[in-house]
Amino acid sequence: MKLENFPKRIQKYLIPNVTGHVVYQCLGCEAEYNISRLLYTCPACGSILLLEDLDFDRLKKVPRDTWRQIFDYRKMLNIPALRGIYRYHEFIGPMMPLDAVIYLGEGYTPMVEANAYLQDLVGARFYFKNEGQNPSASFKDRGMASALSYINFLVNSGKLSDVLAVCASTGDTSASAALYAAYLQPGVKSAVLLPHKKVTPQQLAQPLGSGAVVFEIPGVFDDCMKVVEALSEQYNVALLNSKNAWRIWGQESYSYEIAQDFDYDTDHKVIVVPIGNAGNITAIMSGFLKFFEAGIIDRLPKIIGVQSSHANPVYRYYLEPRPEKRTFVPVKVRPSVAQAAMIGNPVSVPRVIHLVEAYNEKAGSQAVFFTEVEEQAIMDWQLTANRNGHIACTQGGESLAGLVEAKKSGIVSKDDIIVLDATAHAMKFAGFQAMYFEDRFPPEFEITPKKSLQNAPRLVQPKGLDVVPSADKPLEGKDFDRFVQRTAEAIAEKLNLKPR
Ligand SMILES: *Cc1c(COP(=O)(O)O)cnc(C)c1O
Ligand SMILES: [Zn+2]
Repeated sequence: MKLENFPKRIQKYLIPNVTGHVVYQCLGCEAEYNISRLLYTCPACGSILLLEDLDFDRLKKVPRDTWRQIFDYRKMLNIPALRGIYRYHEFIGPMMPLDAVIYLGEGYTPMVEANAYLQDLVGARFYFKNEGQNPSASFKDRGMASALSYINFLVNSGKLSDVLAVCASTGDTSASAALYAAYLQPGVKSAVLLPHKKVTPQQLAQPLGSGAVVFEIPGVFDDCMKVVEALSEQYNVALLNSKNAWRIWGQESYSYEIAQDFDYDTDHKVIVVPIGNAGNITAIMSGFLKFFEAGIIDRLPKIIGVQSSHANPVYRYYLEPRPEKRTFVPVKVRPSVAQAAMIGNPVSVPRVIHLVEAYNEKAGSQAVFFTEVEEQAIMDWQLTANRNGHIACTQGGESLAGLVEAKKSGIVSKDDIIVLDATAHAMKFAGFQAMYFEDRFPPEFEITPKKSLQNAPRLVQPKGLDVVPSADKPLEGKDFDRFVQRTAEAIAEKLNLKPR
């Protein structure tokens, strides 16, 4: 819809201005730094950073109904820069001029309610939010849209040129980084570091297809991350891991979309999210907190972070109930089907610790929980979800398995409505599905396939045919008719079809 056709009183709000006073803020020593350069850790104390808008209080002056209308009406505007994560411009990048925004179709992903059968089976009312419907098929595109828009902004304003963007990845970060960097070539190029044989073939195909330089590194993700950190400390490169606080900002759009899709009624809502490097759960907490502080929502949803027992450092940290007794200990990861979350030393742990405290305090009682699931449950629930019309990846299966655990331990109550983060598309992890169907899991995965969830193609070989068609020898005439008839009969027999 054209701007002049919106109600007069809302028109002046619809196209956001460049505003705010955005700085990097250190989580260790609270030092603040100008955003005119790329910064990942505090030059003074080495701690991790978050972005802060020091002028945030101005947003509280806009009445909450006006905010709600701004976002709702913005949905109808046909301005590409406002169709993705920057619909929430004032909250995730108020200093960003719209002409710097890179929009490749990210965000605005659907929440799909589980069918009655699946809701009965689980005993809860729930939705999947399908992050696999982002352009590179995972939620990582939200943060990349933010980080690359910011890089584009620096390039446009002459503060940066010839950028080499680098990241370490469990697969999806590199797919996303390579995609967004490719859009900005030749001014921006990308190089990605992947743990050798620890990403799926589909995930490997993505940065290769986008033209990135792809390095395979021996070891696991945590080893790649250390190499990338060394690169970003010693050389002139742009780091695109979630250590980069711009990534977190873009990913906050996930929370804003959920609030908006429930018409801002966040009472009795629960968000379940798998934890890997812990950037996503950081962004989700931060997003809801900001909408709460601006008065746009009245309640903070419960948030449940899920980890596999094969990669569970955050879960273990919170096992200790007394905050002063908690110590963070990295874990040695074991093979996991939730491979995108297979991280033993998550970069965003200090952010999580900081935000969990703030979130629980603002909520008035514990509102962030952590749960652990087994590999078997992840696979079983992923396949069960997808047999009921979903497109959940293994990490999405982890979310559902986490919900089942949370129900058992009483974290989720009867009146709660749950949103499960299906963080990527099922297709990216088709290899684990095949291992399950063909009973090929090595013992260290600790997964025994259930017959009822297995599936396999059936080759139809009708009896009594002298010839069958092939690509170079198509059949004709009587031979072809006989082939069609016999094949149809063979299928009808297998399916027990009744003649009509
Ligand atoms: C990156 C990723 C995760 C983990 O998210 P973090 O922000 O690293 O905690 C989970 N699932 C998928 C599909 C991912 O790509
Ligand atoms: Zn510091």
